[in-house]
Amino acid sequence: METKIRSLRDDIDKLNLEILEKLSERAKIAEAIGELQTQTGSSHYDPVREAEMLDALTAANDGPFSDATVKSLFKQIFQASMQLEQEQDKKTYLTSRSKDRGDTIVEIRGTRIGTGESPVLIAGPCAIESKEQVDVTAAKVASRGVTLFRGGAFKPRTDPYSFQGLGEEGLKLGRAAADAHGLAFVAEIMDARDLPAFEQYADVLQVGARNMQNFTLLKAIGQSRKPVLLKRGLSATIQEWVMAAEYLLYEGNPNVILCERGIRTYEPTTRNTLDVSAVALAKQETHLPVVVDVTHSGGRRDLLVPLTKAALAIGADGIMMEVHPNPAVALSDQKQQVDFDTFDAYLEATGYDKKLTPDRHEVYGF
Ligand code: PEP
Ligand code: MN
Repeated sequence: METKIRSLRDDIDKLNLEILEKLSERAKIAEAIGELQTQTGSSHYDPVREAEMLDALTAANDGPFSDATVKSLFKQIFQASMQLEQEQDKKTYLTSRSKDRGDTIVEIRGTRIGTGESPVLIAGPCAIESKEQVDVTAAKVASRGVTLFRGGAFKPRTDPYSFQGLGEEGLKLGRAAADAHGLAFVAEIMDARDLPAFEQYADVLQVGARNMQNFTLLKAIGQSRKPVLLKRGLSATIQEWVMAAEYLLYEGNPNVILCERGIRTYEPTTRNTLDVSAVALAKQETHLPVVVDVTHSGGRRDLLVPLTKAALAIGADGIMMEVHPNPAVALSDQKQQVDFDTFDAYLEATGYDKKLTPDRHEVYGF
């Protein structure tokens, strides 16, 4: 009896291996079909084809398994194949994290973003308003060890009658202030036609929330090699945001930094709702650095410190925030920019004062 069972089990073991071999063979064919479907833009799920296969199988079924059992076994196989096809799709995206692609580190004038070590800080005014305003702000942030200076020259404003930014003149002022204090300059680009000016004056091309899906702009700046700070759209899903980054990589620009800046929700007490899970997911699913704009996320000064702590705790590679010499008279975002004293207090409360390098000579070597 014992020997008989052992011998039958040997037969089963052999069959298991044969079934596995056939399943793997089948999976490879499914992958090839999946690839063709992806190329032609058709869906991996084809219910008509699935029903045909199940009909053919039940017609050929002579037992001992019931038709229902055969169907449920094969449905499992179909499901597993489809998962394989979907996984394969994901890997083909240039933004996708995969085993053979390490973390992307974007280097901006000596500052490295995405190292997994020291988080960076991008600070500066919402908008560049005058030579004096931009210069004192650049001096202030530089004195605290900040290396990345922000300032908008082209401002996307809801109200067409409000301050629109100084345009190219603003870019020149931002460049001059950044140079005077050894800073890199981050500015928002809204129109592909301005790219030559940005190539000349800016170090980082910021794509604002309102332009995240401006595909003409994305294609144009994807041709550039300047680092891009890609903000998440006001109501963009994580997938849409990552696909916008895919445009940039596809066009050949590898220097992409994602920026979560809060999304629009039903909550009126904050300007936007900081989506911390998006930060974790973007880090998990892509190899790109992710920073968090805490100013626009909450739209409230009293939330800057807790939002920064949350962002860094969940793995953000850096923070962006707005600083202005006199927020009360700022030409944009008066309510959310911080003055210099508040900026100092922010640095201490978040521990950024220890994370930055106040001796900037070390960073630049001069
Ligand atoms: C900005 O950073 O100046 C800005 C306009 O932000 P957002 O595009 O995230 O609204
Ligand atoms: Mn702003």
